[in-house]
Amino acid sequence: MIKKINHIGIAVKNIGLSSDLFSKLFEQPAPYTESIPEQKATIAFYPLDESSIELLESTSADSTISKFIEKRGEGIHHICLEVDDINAEVMRLKKHGFQFVNENPSDGSEGCLIVFLHPKSTNGVLIELSQKM
Ligand code: ZN
Repeated sequence: MIKKINHIGIAVKNIGLSSDLFSKLFEQPAPYTESIPEQKATIAFYPLDESSIELLESTSADSTISKFIEKRGEGIHHICLEVDDINAEVMRLKKHGFQFVNENPSDGSEGCLIVFLHPKSTNGVLIELSQKM
């Protein structure tokens, strides 16, 4: 079951500069930053009530975030939906013909399990599914 929007991911070139900017916007310092080797990214999370804004900076020129910024520039990169059972959701969505970037859940931030639906099958929107552990 899909429970809610967990966060919206924004691809940025420089997480230091963008953290300054978004800290002013949200009137809070970035409380949580983490390096995610699986995604070749450093992230900063701004919790906003029930959801968050996630800033993503690439740590490698060949990462999907680098390629995204090359093609489209900085901006909204993905929407993350929180699910209660990620494997059940992958099975359910595959039956409907959705395509995945990775079908086997991998480690995301804060110990979550995540998968990404391919934007080809979701009207150009990269959707992340996340299950809290
Ligand atoms: Zn995310």
